[in-house]
Amino acid sequence: MTDVVRYERRGPVALVTMDRPKYRNAQNSAMTYALDAAFTRAVDDEEVSVIVLAGAGDHFSAGHDIGTPERDAHRSFQRRAVLWWDHVDKSGGDGRYSREIEVYLGMCRRWREIPKPTVAMVQGACIAGGLMLAWVCDLIVAADDAFFADPVVRMGIPGVEYFAHPWVLGPRAAKEVLFTGERFDARRAYEWGMVNRVVPRDRLEEETVALAGRIAGMPRFGLALTKRAVNQAEDLMGLRAGMDSAFGLHHFAHAHNAETSADPLGGMDARAMRREGRRD
Ligand code: ZN
Repeated sequence: MTDVVRYERRGPVALVTMDRPKYRNAQNSAMTYALDAAFTRAVDDEEVSVIVLAGAGDHFSAGHDIGTPERDAHRSFQRRAVLWWDHVDKSGGDGRYSREIEVYLGMCRRWREIPKPTVAMVQGACIAGGLMLAWVCDLIVAADDAFFADPVVRMGIPGVEYFAHPWVLGPRAAKEVLFTGERFDARRAYEWGMVNRVVPRDRLEEETVALAGRIAGMPRFGLALTKRAVNQAEDLMGLRAGMDSAFGLHHFAHAHNAETSADPLGGMDARAMRREGRRD
């Protein structure tokens, strides 16, 4: 396991922690594949019943890595999420689609299907790609200092790759969040039903691990079947098909940006996104 993700077991609970606090746990591919390895280990570990996903430091995750020195979008990794060719050395939409269907959409879908219950433990920033990670978890416990946003419409792109917004927020709130790109706090996320509970920051870990521990007392196979039943219900409510359709629009937007401006992100980098965000 690389050092960008930590793995720890506390009784029946596995704690998987993103560990790039210097970059607010921005997700490069090294982190994505380290997360996948940690989740696989937790699934295989007979002693583990519930998995908690956490972020080291003051923030859960600032999103995908679009600007740190360890950005590794052009590196090749052993693909695990979908059967598709490698993105490296492919041009234009071919390369972009190959990478995102594996590293972003594919990995998130793969993690949503983890047969053991997963709980996201969220403090501070949970932005864009950070939302994707929280959303694939079954439950979300948020600290009272947590804040959320999907600002990628500023890049001219209709939301992050794992387009769960209408299902986890409701259509009206989803439009507000996307149209404004503004932050919403843990209290609003709770009112919209996006998070299960909001706890004081200094009690976040204790409350989350305690909740995970209570779930761990339930029969393992019963939990796995129940998770599947609810996920299937969400898919019957259109989640999977809706996400496929949004993924096409997402890639149309990347291609439009590449065709008309500096790059597929519409000339925006992490710094520009933050600058725009401060104008809210
Ligand atoms: Zn994308």
